[in-house]
Amino acid sequence: MAKIQAIRGTKDILPEELQYWQFIHNKISNLLECANYQEIRTPIFESSDLYDRGIGRDTDIVNKEMYRFHDRSNRDITLRPEGTAGIVRAFIENKMNYHHSLQRLWYSGPMFRYERPQSGRQRQFHQLGIEFLGSLDARADSEVIHLAISIFNNLNLKDLKLDLNSIGKAEDRSIYQAKLQEYLKQYYDDLDPDSQKRLISNPIRILDSKNINTQKILAEAPKISNFLSISSQRHFDAVCNYLKLLDIPYNINDKLVRGLDYYNDTAFEIKTLTSKGQDTVCGGGRYDSLVKQLGGVATPAVGCAIGLERLLLLAKENIELPSKYVDFYIATQGKKANEVGMKIMRFLHQKLFTIEIDVSSSNFGKQIKQANKKRAVACIIIGNQEVEQGTVTIKWMSNQQQEDMSIMQFEHSTSYLKKKILFYKNLKSY
Ligand code: ATP
Ligand code: MG
Repeated sequence: MAKIQAIRGTKDILPEELQYWQFIHNKISNLLECANYQEIRTPIFESSDLYDRGIGRDTDIVNKEMYRFHDRSNRDITLRPEGTAGIVRAFIENKMNYHHSLQRLWYSGPMFRYERPQSGRQRQFHQLGIEFLGSLDARADSEVIHLAISIFNNLNLKDLKLDLNSIGKAEDRSIYQAKLQEYLKQYYDDLDPDSQKRLISNPIRILDSKNINTQKILAEAPKISNFLSISSQRHFDAVCNYLKLLDIPYNINDKLVRGLDYYNDTAFEIKTLTSKGQDTVCGGGRYDSLVKQLGGVATPAVGCAIGLERLLLLAKENIELPSKYVDFYIATQGKKANEVGMKIMRFLHQKLFTIEIDVSSSNFGKQIKQANKKRAVACIIIGNQEVEQGTVTIKWMSNQQQEDMSIMQFEHSTSYLKKKILFYKNLKSY
């Protein structure tokens, strides 16, 4: 029989690895709560229309990367390739602007894209994103960028670079697009095949090409910055000004255009200078027309998404996880003792001690070895003798001291036990 394996491009996150995920998740969520951002969770599958209309049919994501299928009722469904479109749908559907015209939201969860798997690129991957809906002010853009940067700083990530650009409004872009097309047509034969295709469908995306020859041709190409309207130019200047004020270094990259159609004005990416593979850890920008485009009341917005796999690849080496231990390891021998052990287990669990009960029925020597392996602060031993006397033996593992207590006394000693556990934990840095 064929072996059943995880689907190509997906990964199990095993318990040991998950500790790192939880560590960064807690850090980031604390940081975002402090900035008064609220978490939102939307479904991982949506009607395909949402992405056709939201992200745009001429983008790589919609064209080539979507997990799109028909369900049993023949609905056209897509596993979400990104978070923003779903959040905007939820924003409209739940009339979130009704109570608060400003919404500061964040999300985190799996996204799905059919891409060639490699280091830092999977088919199921995770993004954490920030969305600030309801403001046209350049302070909103700067706040989102500041938060993304502060997330990286908080995880001690250095050697990052913020690339910034303004891609103007749709009208500015269509004039620019024509100029760019005109320029690139002269070099059609020298462009890489992907760029040749894009020359008709989405010429601005050619700016993003990694092909060296194409890049050479692009060096002399018209620049979007010369086609910005006055209001876009002002907005961009204001964002730059706030970033300077916040001591956030940035690099203006006039080739930065981003792969989704819904962006306007501010576009940015945060890249690592150290990783060899996939170097973009965060991408974002302003999307003032998306809410209206998806049927809501026109609402400006700005946001970004961080790729968590790529973030972890960088952050892991700086993370020192707190060591794992258990407060009490419960060792028992014999039928009656097993029963007493179960009750002790329930009692300690209710009092929120960290515990583990040994279910091996092996001899005490082996069980105590296990207790050491699990870094137990204490072992509770219950054998025939204890059962007869109605007691338990507590063995403090760091100095091997033992004490006997009647079960009755034990169950009235919570604060004593808490203190002792704390004392021994401090004594030996568990
Ligand atoms: P790339 O150029 O690497 O394909 P993108 O522009 O498609 O990135 P965005 O849509 O902006 O990426 O997504 C934001 C972030 O999500 C990226 O910067 C990256 O860190 C992460 N990301 C995107 N696609 C993947 C993937 N297939 N696997 C892992 N992380 C991803
Ligand atoms: Mg991509």
